[in-house]
This record gives sequence, structure tokens and C-alpha cells, in this order.
Amino acid sequence: MTLEQLYLLFLEYPVICTDTRKITENCLFFALKGPNFNGNAFTNEALNKGASYAIIDEEEHNTSDKSIVVEDVLTTMQNLATLHRQSCQAKVIALTGSNGKTTTKELINVVLSKQYRTIATLGNLNNHIGVPLTLLSITEDTEIAIVEMGANHKKEIAQLCEIAQPDFGYITNFGKAHLEGFGGVEGVIQGKSELYDHLMAQNKYIFLNADDPIQLEKLGCYIKKFGFSGDNPQYFNIKFKNADPFVALEFEDMKVDTQLVGKYNFPNACAAITMGKYFNVPATDIKDALETYQPKNNRSQVLEQNGYQIILDAYNANPTSMKAALENFKNMDAETKTLVLGDMFELGQDAEKEHQGIANLASEMGFEDVFLVGENFWKVDSPFQKFKNFDNLKSAIEVSSPKKGSILIKGSRGMALERVLAFL
Ligand code: ATP
Ligand code: MG
Repeated sequence: MTLEQLYLLFLEYPVICTDTRKITENCLFFALKGPNFNGNAFTNEALNKGASYAIIDEEEHNTSDKSIVVEDVLTTMQNLATLHRQSCQAKVIALTGSNGKTTTKELINVVLSKQYRTIATLGNLNNHIGVPLTLLSITEDTEIAIVEMGANHKKEIAQLCEIAQPDFGYITNFGKAHLEGFGGVEGVIQGKSELYDHLMAQNKYIFLNADDPIQLEKLGCYIKKFGFSGDNPQYFNIKFKNADPFVALEFEDMKVDTQLVGKYNFPNACAAITMGKYFNVPATDIKDALETYQPKNNRSQVLEQNGYQIILDAYNANPTSMKAALENFKNMDAETKTLVLGDMFELGQDAEKEHQGIANLASEMGFEDVFLVGENFWKVDSPFQKFKNFDNLKSAIEVSSPKKGSILIKGSRGMALERVLAFL
């Protein structure tokens, strides 16, 4: 079957499914492979559960006239996504960066959906599978698609751009994340900049955070850019008011009280405002969207529990976002402050240095009640309480609870530090 024929089939059955536990009637099942699974083995199950056709790449599973054998299922899905993207009317906004992609993507989506029919990446499905799936969820009605792109090594964003062919792009920031795969910060800058390289080569548009010196320097020579910056008259003016703990800002003489904790969320909100303005969303709708949005999934959530004010930032962590979170917490108005910090993953040879750096920073900032947890933090030279793993931390907290007051909980996803909540 040619790609064009498969596309006609997709137009007839426009729902894609890659997991037999989530099969819906009349979907197309794509039998993807992973390190621990082979979708081909689920062909019959998918068809029995109601999939219209199964796209597979192993002849031995071709036992039904409803299975379509292709050379490689993933490549076929990616090519189909590109064909669909080229055939649809929707404008595509792509986002990448080290920190804040999902938050910014959701903020852009709530703002633009005030005025347009949008689709956006679901949750964090931002890789070589998630991006095509997002594109394939564009319908005839969709006016704007907001696509998050994640990467942990070079050339990845370039490939995702080939698939998504964005009209607009935004990089949240270049930070110390996935240093292992990118081979250092320079590698991160190059890797993430593949989005801008793609947009420039295609003569498309870039939203630029002009407050970010690295981005400004890199893109100074380009012309097709839009930006935001507190003091730069060239750009749309958004004023930061405060973040205690929630970000308040002002634009067009309107105060916006968000439910986003941490100053690091200010640029994320600015990006959404700038795009809203660019796409002519009325300012009052932008304000309403930003004030209504609540962060989800352990991303900088503020919770009250048994006399604790908890900033739960257990979704992920890397040196840049850890530093931003510590600075924010330091500036917060609270009498008693406790830190529960978990290991930051994927730092490769920089792991030791970066964990030591965060422990030092916490100490320089004057924090006293600090719990460090994880194999990496266990090794740092520090006066703080250290725990090799979560169970050790749990036992200590059960014996002696942290002081009542504010607590910042932050660590990499694998540390699953939200488990601390059960013991507070
Ligand atoms: P992932 O790489 O897992 O997809 P992401 O880039 O999508 O992450 P988010 O999920 O939006 O990032 O945010 C994760 C955490 O990053 C937040 O809870 C916050 O601690 C931190 N963060 C968010 N925005 C910024 C920012 N602009 N600068 C620094 N840190 C940020
Ligand atoms: Mg994300």
C-alpha cells in the first residue's frame, strides 16, 4: 500500500491508536515497537477490540485482511503525519527548550483557544512518536496546532521539524538539561536551535524572548522575529509585578493574577500573551485564560496540607530549573522554609559537580532545613541531611516531621518525590 493510499484510509478512519489497552472503535492501530514491547504481537487483539485496520511491519503477524504490512511502522506513521500536516489548513506553532515547554504549550493553548479552534500536544507527548500523533490529531476544523518538541540529543529537533514543518517557533530557554545526551550546554544550544535553523531556512516566524541574551545574540541578525521583553520598546511590553507565590504581571494597563508559582513562569506567560496578541486574541480574553489556568501533574503546584504550604515541583528537575526554583523559594514570603530536593538525572559526567553546586547554592541562600535525597545528593559534601534513597527519607520523616511552614519539593521524575505528600 502506498503512503497516499494509507492516507485515504486515515481520512476515513482518522483516529490513531498505538496501545491496545486504549483501542477505540474504527481506529487505525499502528504496531509500534519499543525496547520492551512489540506492537505487532498485538495485531489480533487490536482488530478484535474494534480497530478498523492494523499497520504492522512483521509478515508473521499478517494473519488478517485487516492488517497492512509496511516496511517500518514508526517511519510510516511519521510520513503520514507529515502528509497530513501538508494537507491541512492549520498553522503549526512548535515549541522546544530546556525548561517550561509543557507549561508554555498549555498557556499558549488556553490563550489561543479563546479565539481559535486549536489542538495541542497531549500532556508531554513530545518525541518522535508524540509529535506525529499530535499532528495526526489535527482535524479539518483545526486552525492552530501547538506542538511541543522534546529532545535529549542533537539532530532530534531537526527531525521533528521535518515531520511537523512548523510555521512559527519558540524556544523557552537553553538550560542545563539532558547534558549527557547533548554533550554540554553548547550542545543544548545547538540542539534546541535546530528549531530556529529550520524556521529561518523556511522563511517562517520566530517568537523570541528578547530578555534572553543567548537567544538575542544568536538571532540578532535575523529579521522575522517577534518578541517580548520588559524594557525593550521594540517589543510588546509586559511588566513583571511579583511572584509571592503566584506570578502577577501587567500588560496594556491590565493586571493579570496567574495561578502559576515562581518567577520562572513569567517568561512562559509572556510567550502566551505575545502569541495571543500576534493572533489578535482580545486582551481581556488573554487575561481570563491566564488567570484561569491551573498547573497540573506536579508542575509547580501549590498545595495546603496539615499546616504545610507545599510547592510541589516533582515533575522534573535539572540544574537550571532547580536554581530557578530555589531563587523563587528564597524570595517567597514565609517564616519557615524547608527544602526536599531529589537527584537530577541525565547529567552524565557533570552529575557530581552539579549536585554539589545545588547543595552549595542552598547553603549560600541561607536555607537550613534541607533534606537531600538520592544517590547523587548522597555523595555531596554538605551539612544538610542526606538520604541515599526515598525509603531512608521516608523513615526519617516518619520519626521527625519537617517543621510546619513552607516546603519546596523538587527532583527528577524518576525520584517521584510527590510520594513525600503521604508523610506530611
Ligand atoms: P520536559 O522536558 O519534561 O518536557 P518541560 O520543558 O515541558 O519539561 P514543564 O513540564 O513545563 O517543562 O515544567 C517542568 C518544571 O520546569 C516546572 O515545574 C518548573 O520547575 C520548571 N520550569 C518551568 N518553566 C521554567 C523556565 N522558564 N525556566 C526554568 N525552569 C522552568
Ligand atoms: Mg514537557
